[in-house]
Amino acid sequence: MFEALYLEKTDRNGPTATLRHLPESALPEGDVTVRVHWSGLNYKDALAITGRGPVVRAWPMVPGIDFAGVVEQSTSPAFSAGQEVMLNGWGVGEKHWGGLAQKARVPHDWLLPLPTGLSAQQVMALGTAGFTAMLCVQALVREGVEPHDGPVLVTGATGGVGSVAVMLLAKMGYEVVAVTGRLEEQPYLQKLGAADVLARSHFEMPSRPLENARWAGAVDVVGGQVLASVCAAIKPRGVVTACGLAGGMDFPATVAPFILRGVTLVGIDSVMCPQNVRQQAWARLATLVDKDLLEGMTRILPLSGVLNAATDLLDGKIKGRLVVEIP
Ligand code: NDP
Repeated sequence: MFEALYLEKTDRNGPTATLRHLPESALPEGDVTVRVHWSGLNYKDALAITGRGPVVRAWPMVPGIDFAGVVEQSTSPAFSAGQEVMLNGWGVGEKHWGGLAQKARVPHDWLLPLPTGLSAQQVMALGTAGFTAMLCVQALVREGVEPHDGPVLVTGATGGVGSVAVMLLAKMGYEVVAVTGRLEEQPYLQKLGAADVLARSHFEMPSRPLENARWAGAVDVVGGQVLASVCAAIKPRGVVTACGLAGGMDFPATVAPFILRGVTLVGIDSVMCPQNVRQQAWARLATLVDKDLLEGMTRILPLSGVLNAATDLLDGKIKGRLVVEIP
């Protein structure tokens, strides 16, 4: 038997979420069984657990889009019992049982060995959010944004993706301007490396097709009007990465920044990202991340604390990252 957070569909608004003891025979198909030690509580997990977003595509579901642990059994030559592994994405916690459980069973080609230089706890302190932040930063670099080009914006800056993006960009020498709905968190953001902090409200009003060109690049996790306003104020040839929808799914923009300033909008998807790209991103995270700053931005939760924390996360009350310790 193993303990798991178990989501069942109901006729009411949200699913029921309970901690259950399940038989190992209930685990889904897969050639590797992992004893999970750490998982993360991500925005998508919170949507799944509360039912506030249509994340779960198979019922019942064990949520948890990422986990780190030790291989317990493997019929694949790629992994052997006792090996430390991690996983994020591939629809785990959405259509295949996920990491908010003592055990997970998955196909071997979704797993990665734990990256050198990070512990299982640190990997999940970064989790899908930190990985996504790294993909955003790598996209800015790939598309040619350099530190001397000017300041780079990070929206939703106190959240998981935002906090890690601020930390990474500052470490790489960029002048980071953090955009937040929580100006009282200015000291937190400055500690992560933000040179300046702006109120989200500046970006929430409908913008003109082109605003003053101030930013060389941006990492946006908010979407909606904020993304549209950010795009309108990007310098010629600048780059924006879009990975989130914390402020909405819509995109009330015009094509002006793209056709008159040559701005590039790069979409970021962490779920189906190829394994070689994942490995590179995790290796880069392992070398770039300041472990003390990471610890300072992380709160450890027990599995039993996940339900309340999921609501708080969606209500914008959580700062940094939530990592779940699985006994
Ligand atoms: P968090 O909840 O940790 O952070 C989101 C942040 O967005 C909040 O901290 C807050 O920052 C801001 N925010 C919250 N609500 C609103 C709102 N209504 N309007 C505007 N801003 C808001 O989530 P994550 O950082 O983990 O994820 C951020 C987004 O990125 C989510 O939409 C998530 O689904 C997406 N994501 C996408 C991935 C992909 O593969 N494309 C992978 C991982 C995440 P502040 O208070 O500082 O303004």
